[in-house]
Amino acid sequence: MKIRVIGGGLAGCEAALTAAHLGCAVDLYEMRAMVDGQPRLTPAHQTTDFGELVCSNSLKSESPNTAPWLLKQEMRRGGSALLRFADETAVPAGHALAVDRVEFSRRIGEAIAAQPLIRVFREEVTRLDADFDGVTILATGPLTSDALSAEIERLTGSGRLAFYDSISPIVEADSIDMERVYMAARWDKGTADYINCPMDRAEFDTFLDALLAAEPAEIKEWEKADYFEGCLPIEVLARRGRDTLRFGPMKPVGLRDPRTGKTPWAVVQLRKENLRADSYNLVGFQNHLKFGAQAHVLRLIPGLENARFLRYGQIHRNTYICAPLLLDETLRLKPAPEGPDETLRLKSAPKGPEKTRRLNSALEGPEETLRLNSAPKGPDETLRLKPAPEGPEETRRLKSAPEGPEENSPGQAQRSPGIGGEQTPCALEGRREPSPILFAGQLSGVEGYTESIATGLLAGIYAAAIAHGEEPVPAPRASALGSLVHYIVHADPKHFQPANITFDLLEPLEEELRKKIRDKKERHRLVCERSLAAFDAWWNAMPKPL
Ligand SMILES: Cc1cc2nc3c(=O)[nH]c(=O)nc-3n(C[C@H](O)[C@H](O)[C@H](O)COP(=O)(O)OP(=O)(O)OC[C@H]3O[C@@H](n4cnc5c(N)ncnc54)[C@H](O)[C@@H]3O)c2cc1C
Repeated sequence: MKIRVIGGGLAGCEAALTAAHLGCAVDLYEMRAMVDGQPRLTPAHQTTDFGELVCSNSLKSESPNTAPWLLKQEMRRGGSALLRFADETAVPAGHALAVDRVEFSRRIGEAIAAQPLIRVFREEVTRLDADFDGVTILATGPLTSDALSAEIERLTGSGRLAFYDSISPIVEADSIDMERVYMAARWDKGTADYINCPMDRAEFDTFLDALLAAEPAEIKEWEKADYFEGCLPIEVLARRGRDTLRFGPMKPVGLRDPRTGKTPWAVVQLRKENLRADSYNLVGFQNHLKFGAQAHVLRLIPGLENARFLRYGQIHRNTYICAPLLLDETLRLKPAPEGPDETLRLKSAPKGPEKTRRLNSALEGPEETLRLNSAPKGPDETLRLKPAPEGPEETRRLKSAPEGPEENSPGQAQRSPGIGGEQTPCALEGRREPSPILFAGQLSGVEGYTESIATGLLAGIYAAAIAHGEEPVPAPRASALGSLVHYIVHADPKHFQPANITFDLLEPLEEELRKKIRDKKERHRLVCERSLAAFDAWWNAMPKPL
């Protein structure tokens, strides 16, 4: 059975090389190409090279017993081709694995050219052919072309594809001044799980003035976008009027302060990031401000004067599916319910200049949208994935843990609306014995270079098993690879956001053991030891090529 891989980025190249190594014939489609002597690129890629690193050259920490290290160790043991090239092209970068990006891509290109089982097609895929009876791996990344995005929506049903990631800041719990805040749920509905930071009128005015004066992050030309009314940045809401935030994410109604018996002028709510409650996110506080500006403005919130930020707010382009609704543990698109049959054709786009990217989603979001004004020019400080300076490496980009409490936000969604919400029917409905489609990389709902390569590795392994007529065995939950997939397929679909690997995603130690081992480093070491053992057992049981 043939395998086609769509997207020659990190995940796609890893998947293609893995499947070919496991004896499968692979057709690899990549739309970046030289056309009439001119490079046809995406808005972020600068070359036509395979596996281009679009921004930093770091594959994160190599410090033993951190979560990014653990993931890389498993990938090395699992024979990841791209990680081998990363190791071979590493440049000195302290405790991180950083690579010479040109050499890294060159080695990927060489390996693909040298692999007789891989055929390369330099063309944009716009449709998925239902007649294709092989295995498809979709790995077209955060900048999936417009036509294919529309096709994926058609395939999965609208409301299951997001085009933006809007991220609220996260603070470490023990840096919150608990004397200045109170626990409560709005209208006392449910348990009092939220930390509420109350503001009087003067405090609110000071905060608002600082917010209005805060320096925005640069918005790249292709990121200038129509944001959705449901997840507007706080600075945009603030510009609409001095009271707008008090009717949005800082709404105080139903949040009487039990210490005074009065309702504050405004309230900032903090919600637990994980069951351990060692970090909290600022509900509805997505923003597009420079990190330094965020540190200043957010520390004006009562209780957060000395807050340590694990992550700052961001809003950026990112195309990803609602994996918890769509994928199974082997990254396969789940069968859809009965319905009308539809043909899914794989067609190449006509040759020619790249079309302007659709920055707005076709999702059924609120009707009105607001255009962000251009931000002043300046260094690209916050566009993507920069860690909060004070946070420990492996927790810098914490994402919501699946076990978060019920939504109690003051009316602000925290990611592109539509995903995980109401849907239109999908084109898979009623298809008899659909050929398998797997998702990998950023499009599947993971975040980051290493995580994209990791899901590419898994997709290659699973697709090869299917192509050989076997049922793929998912990576164990206890492993880092398994935990990453476990997160994307089991997260709450309504709050789903892409995730980096962190200890939050890994299987926690038993409560008794956690209590016994007080030292966090030792707990992490134990989790890593268990993960590697689980990975080895899975990997060793898998049939290998001769
Ligand atoms: C601007 C930006 C900066 C980022 N910076 C970082 C960073 O510093 N560190 C980090 O860890 N992560 C970063 N990321 C996130 C993520 O890790 C990278 O985007 C990573 O490259 C994702 O890997 P991928 O394989 O999923 O997608 P990509 O590497 O983007 O690969 C997808 C490939 O699919 C191709 N493609 C798209 N549509 C089609 C189509 N219809 N037909 C054929 N081919 C198609 C694209 O040309 C591309 O080559 C960044 C993302 C963006 C957008």
